[in-house]
Amino acid sequence: MSYICPLCNGLVVPEQACPHCLQGLLECGKLDDYTGPYSPYVFQTSSDTADEVENVCNHVMYCHHCQTSTPWPVSLWDLSGNL
Ligand SMILES: [Zn+2]
Ligand SMILES: [Zn+2]
Repeated sequence: MSYICPLCNGLVVPEQACPHCLQGLLECGKLDDYTGPYSPYVFQTSSDTADEVENVCNHVMYCHHCQTSTPWPVSLWDLSGNL
């Protein structure tokens, strides 16, 4: 089984609207980069979460209009049946 994140691999362009102002959100990295002492949010990253969590890549979308970050889990693509 081979899963990749289409966003990490540049296969898709994130087109996500801000839930607050409906402006376009900018993808600004993976959630992994935001876990740490400087993270403005406390995300639930328990290792006890469901299996389906393994098939998402957690990114962060940022709205310049609201200046808010929104967690955005991206569903991974299963390449085993496509290649
Ligand atoms: Zn990713
Ligand atoms: Zn916004």
